[in-house]
Amino acid sequence: MVAKIFFLTVILMLPLSCQKKVPTQSEDNKKTVLCTTFSVYDWVRNILGNNSDITPILLFAGVDMHNFFATAETFVTVSQSDLLVTVGGISEHWTDELPQSMQPKSMLKLSSNSDEDEHIWLSLRDATSSCEKIRDKLIEVFPEEKARFTENCRRYIEEIWTLERELSAIASENNGKKVIFADRFPFGPFFHDEIFTSNDIECFAAFSSCGTESAASFNQLVFLGEKIQQFDVKTIFVSENSDKKIATSLMELIDRKDISVVELDSMQIVSWEEINSGKSYLKTMAENISVLREGLR
Ligand SMILES: [Zn+2]
Repeated sequence: MVAKIFFLTVILMLPLSCQKKVPTQSEDNKKTVLCTTFSVYDWVRNILGNNSDITPILLFAGVDMHNFFATAETFVTVSQSDLLVTVGGISEHWTDELPQSMQPKSMLKLSSNSDEDEHIWLSLRDATSSCEKIRDKLIEVFPEEKARFTENCRRYIEEIWTLERELSAIASENNGKKVIFADRFPFGPFFHDEIFTSNDIECFAAFSSCGTESAASFNQLVFLGEKIQQFDVKTIFVSENSDKKIATSLMELIDRKDISVVELDSMQIVSWEEINSGKSYLKTMAENISVLREGLR
């Protein structure tokens, strides 16, 4: 919108003789980069930069990536795009089965092994390598923009590194502490990072992965309860918008009312409303890091 207003202002300010030289490419001819999930979309839009003629599009705003079903309309959008960027996880298998006539002009999968945890954006290390892959692919598809993409990506990665250094400092200050995660668990890529493992910070979770199960087994609750007592844990972590049922059962089981329950945001389901109010990958990760800092005290 801002770009449009700016564009109109520029036209109005031009002397009449120059007006016909202003390109009048229609919106329909705009080049597009489709992204399957919020984090990928946010990385792409940052590497493209504000003044790019290339439009990043988020396919699944407000939808749980695990429950997404591609429709005929999705296929049409994909076939009209210049580039499709996916995480490449199990929830995005539909992109492997696109009919020949529905293929995007170009495609980038950020994760090569479909069996690994697909929430790769929750690892800052994977975020950096994903941004580098996006930069290289964008340069391949739009070579004329190479200098801009290179510079935008360099600056963005520096911000990821700032977060990484902050997380490293927190991890070394809390060496040996344990994290209890009482919820679906998309944070494997976050907690299994070397930043934590090298500081003997282990995360015990109610589930081994994100999945769709919602009730933890009694044995798992007992196990988590024992870890809380053994390591004198004062905080239980859950995912965003959690019903906190598992955390509550856990506290009842060990009869502890002095434990706080805090949320980490996995950015799995991000609505347009949130995006329009300025939600970003970097801001959300920064918030997660500060929640973690408080939670480990
Ligand atoms: Zn998930």
